[in-house]
Amino acid sequence: MKKIILTGDRPTGKLHIGHFVGSLKRRVELQNSGEFDKVFIMIADAQALTDNVDNPEKVRQNIIEVALDYLACGIDPTKSTIFIQSQIAELCELSFYYMNLVTVARLQRNPTVKTEIQMRNFESSIPVGFFTYPISQAADITAFKATTVPVGEDQKPMLEQTNEIVRRFNHIYGETLVEPQILLPDNAACLRLPGTDGKAKMSKSLGNCIYLSETADELQKKIKSMYTDPDHLRVQDPGKIEGNTVFTYLDAFCRNEHFERYLNEYPNLDELKAHYQRGGLGDMKVKKFLGAIMEEELGPIRERRKEFEKDIPAIYEMLKKGCDTARAAAADTLADVRRAMKINYFEDAELIAEQAKRFNLGE
Ligand code: ATP
Ligand code: MG
Repeated sequence: MKKIILTGDRPTGKLHIGHFVGSLKRRVELQNSGEFDKVFIMIADAQALTDNVDNPEKVRQNIIEVALDYLACGIDPTKSTIFIQSQIAELCELSFYYMNLVTVARLQRNPTVKTEIQMRNFESSIPVGFFTYPISQAADITAFKATTVPVGEDQKPMLEQTNEIVRRFNHIYGETLVEPQILLPDNAACLRLPGTDGKAKMSKSLGNCIYLSETADELQKKIKSMYTDPDHLRVQDPGKIEGNTVFTYLDAFCRNEHFERYLNEYPNLDELKAHYQRGGLGDMKVKKFLGAIMEEELGPIRERRKEFEKDIPAIYEMLKKGCDTARAAAADTLADVRRAMKINYFEDAELIAEQAKRFNLGE
């Protein structure tokens, strides 16, 4: 069986460091590993419209932002197909058929959707499109016969839902669809990176993000005002590591070599944490260290982005080609699906011949 990757992001804003550690960095590694036959990366504009129905301009403007972030991080259009969800009509058709395989009760149990409904104050008026987006996501994944889906932890319920749909479809209509596997980050801090406010997952919709394209100044400003341990008031006080966002980001980004470069009085992160917990280590010193690490990581991304920004029409051309490639792949799967579901009337010569016989027998 071919090894195929499908993953993507909603064009609701620029991409942030949560996307980077949760999925984007891994995608680039997998793309360059040469182990995959195909890599599809989708800008999920139709999904973004399910909770931004009255703000189409936001979605429209952010397509290019997401595409630039991809290219800046090292997604290479000669190795990966970058495409826009709404341009692949086959995905809607597939979702429509999958809707028959899922109950309302099952959708209501999805914990990620539950949290997102609360976040968006949708409790009393959930748009049907938003409520059913896990089904549409199953269509996105299966249309490309994806075997591997590198995503953050919030996507786990979507992958479970997808696999249930695949099993049910194959059970009813015969082996047609492929069950995908989720690929979560290895590093626990990267599963669901918290926002700079320390409250929830870093998320474009919550405004608690450090964006990949942040200027050097903005980046340092955001790090300086980050949430730490609210009880750590004086330098000499013992501090808490758990729930301290600065240390979570260090868990996500820091390697031993960073100490050699930027803070050589400590050999590693464990020693830094121990000092903070004992007392005598100030927040500012830790934040400065994090700032240096983040600049080392994001500086080259920012610079590459500036290069790609010089030729925007070329990026739209690349996206258009990506859509054509993606549409052809999805159309192949749809042909299989229609055959399996017995709605391929006009290509089924046997059906027509057999019915002609049946009707003519009575003459
Ligand atoms: P929105 O607020 O519009 O939902 P988002 O910031 O949650 O935006 P998505 O486009 O929904 O971003 O997510 C794209 C991918 O990035 C998914 O694979 C998701 O798991 C991953 N991801 C998003 N936020 C984080 C995070 N804070 N930590 C780890 N992974 C994340
Ligand atoms: Mg999201």
